[in-house]
Amino acid sequence: MKRLRNNESISSLIERLWFYASVDGALEESSAFEDFFNSREGLDIDYYNDDDLAKLNSIIEPVQPNLAGASKPYTQFYLLDSASRISFCPACAEEDLKSARTIIWRIHWSYGWYVVCLEHSCMLMTISKGNYISRVGQRTESALRMLACRPHAKYSVSLLPPDSITTSTIPHNFMRAECEILDIALRVQKRIMYLIEAGNYGCSELAMISDLLALTLRGHVRGKEIIPYSYRLAKQLTGIGYSNYIDMGSKHATVMTGEYAVCASYPRMIGLALTAAIIRHSGVDFRWYRVCDLLAERGILVPRTSKLLYLAVVGGADTAEHRWYLKRVKSYPIELRKICKEYYTI
Ligand SMILES: [Zn+2]
Repeated sequence: MKRLRNNESISSLIERLWFYASVDGALEESSAFEDFFNSREGLDIDYYNDDDLAKLNSIIEPVQPNLAGASKPYTQFYLLDSASRISFCPACAEEDLKSARTIIWRIHWSYGWYVVCLEHSCMLMTISKGNYISRVGQRTESALRMLACRPHAKYSVSLLPPDSITTSTIPHNFMRAECEILDIALRVQKRIMYLIEAGNYGCSELAMISDLLALTLRGHVRGKEIIPYSYRLAKQLTGIGYSNYIDMGSKHATVMTGEYAVCASYPRMIGLALTAAIIRHSGVDFRWYRVCDLLAERGILVPRTSKLLYLAVVGGADTAEHRWYLKRVKSYPIELRKICKEYYTI
């Protein structure tokens, strides 16, 4: 019970042990965990140096030999910031409640590119504003509150042959087009996962995906810039505004340095799907056409070709975003630049 579970983040273990201590009446241990959390306010909840680990090991009895290996995130590639690590798979959460009495927060859930649970083929939920938490130590309670109000439908959407997506397999609040978008997002998610697990952090393909995600999910100044395409599409589909507003004081240049952490899973799913459609990731073309057709039936027109989609995402040839991306493309290897040329020469 006290050991790290498979793919469990270290913050999850602490949160879980704190919870057990509280409900089991181990008051001294419970307040020790609370003090430990309070003492780390503002620091990354999944990054611990040797001193932090020693302190943690003095609270957890018996001492956990495997903590050191989990004390730092194994990749920084689009790792969400601490406060944003509040996405979870509703089906995993339900299973955890039976086996562990609480939620086991997976490392994968803390990555911006991870939006679909591979085990249950469903989109991650993100703790919403209505279930606000003041810090990550309280995320389980908020997640459970959310699950209680919005029980998710049992479903499986990934990699279904097109005609087998029927009403019964479409998740709660999801339309068929969104199933297709989720499927596309899953393809690029699996690709990122493969590249990272193979240790290819510095490869150009990952750089290109990262840059396009930054373009897609960029922050923008309220009232000064057009809301980026991914957020507009997310709003059209859900009616919910997900915009990633930044302070008026921020310089435009800093917006494009990769600060694209977006908390909610839904716009990230859109961002991944748009990225996959732009780079014409394998197996995505005809799925994107199907998305276009399905959305057109609902009166939402989206660009079919990768070139027009790129234009919708960057907003035109004279934009700062386009210039920024062109500069980035120059650093890619020649073969990749050739591929990019197809859609960036506008
Ligand atoms: Zn799951």
